[in-house]
Formats: sequence, C-alpha cells, structure tokens
Amino acid sequence: MDLEKYVASIPGFPKEGIIFRDVTPMLQDAEAFKESVKQLAGFVKSEDVDVVVGPESRGFIFGCPVALELNAGFVPVRKPGKLPREVVSCKYDLEYGSNEIQMHKDSIKKGQKVFIVDDLLATGGTVEAAIKLVEEMGGEVVGLAFVIELVDLKAKEKLESQGYKVYSILQY
Ligand code: AMP
Repeated sequence: MDLEKYVASIPGFPKEGIIFRDVTPMLQDAEAFKESVKQLAGFVKSEDVDVVVGPESRGFIFGCPVALELNAGFVPVRKPGKLPREVVSCKYDLEYGSNEIQMHKDSIKKGQKVFIVDDLLATGGTVEAAIKLVEEMGGEVVGLAFVIELVDLKAKEKLESQGYKVYSILQY
C-alpha cells in the first residue's frame, strides 16, 4: 500500500517557507491508518517494548494504537500546564524562541524499555527533549519511529550518532 498518497502537502502553512505534511488523510482511511500503525509497530519487537511514548498531539494519535499493537502501555508527552500531577520538564530551542514539554514524573519506571512514536521528525528537537525526560526517569529508549522524516534537516544522522535507532515510513 502506497501510504504517500495519504499525505497532503501544504506549502506556506503555518508560515511561509514551510511545507506542512498533513497526515489527516491517512487517519481518515481505515486501511491506510491500519497499515501505518502496523508499519510503525513493525519496526520493533513487541517483547522489546514496555511503554510507547507519544508527544502531543499527533504522537497520541499514532502512539496509542501502536502501544496496543505491541501490548505496551502508553505515556503522553504534553505541553506545560496540562498534566495534573508532579512533572519532569524539558525546554528546547526552536529557530525563534523555545518550547517546553512535560511528562508525569512517575510515568516511566527505572529500566522500562521505551519506544517513542510521533507523526513527523523535523529538527529532532521534540524527540530529543522526550528522550531526555525518559532517560532522566531511568527508562531505556529502544527506538524512535515516525510516519514522516524530513531528510534535509538531518535529524536522523544526529540521533543515530548518539546511538538511537531511528525509523520512518516515508521520507521527504
Ligand atoms: P521537530 O521537533 O523539529 O522534530 O518537529 C517535530 C514536530 O513538529 C512534530 O511533532 C510535527 O508534528 C511538527 N512538525 C514540524 N514540521 C512539520 C511539517 N513540515 N509538517 C507537519 N508537522 C510538522
């Protein structure tokens, strides 16, 4: 199945110079959605994953069904102010300004094997921050999987040079 057909590319959104890769057509189609989840889960062995971690908000959409497929739990990564209990936080720089993500402090147990899933790998800033939080809690990151990788930004090389396994279904 050619999943690329289910990505809409929108030049100039949300601002000039960006081509937004919209995965909602993939979600709308039952077979394409199922196939994307199957491929993401297929990058790792079920016995190698205790928990899937997904960043807000499209990481929730793909991460949850991947967790069920792998018989693993799911842990959300959220923007500040959303999680009600004690959190761990990580700030990271963007081209202009900065972002911050949070996870519940007790969401990953020491030694748990963690698979991080998101819709898209761009600069890698989001996933690097998520890795930092997971490792701070004692988790072991067994892989990073994305529906889409933006190849020119070279985040995969950077993450692989740090020892992480990086998988993607589609490359742009
Ligand atoms: P980054 O932290 O730079 O790797 O950005 C990854 C996050 O930003 C992902 O969660 C994506 O949902 C979103 N994102 C970044 N660039 C794009 C793009 N060109 N199209 C759609 N989403 C994007």
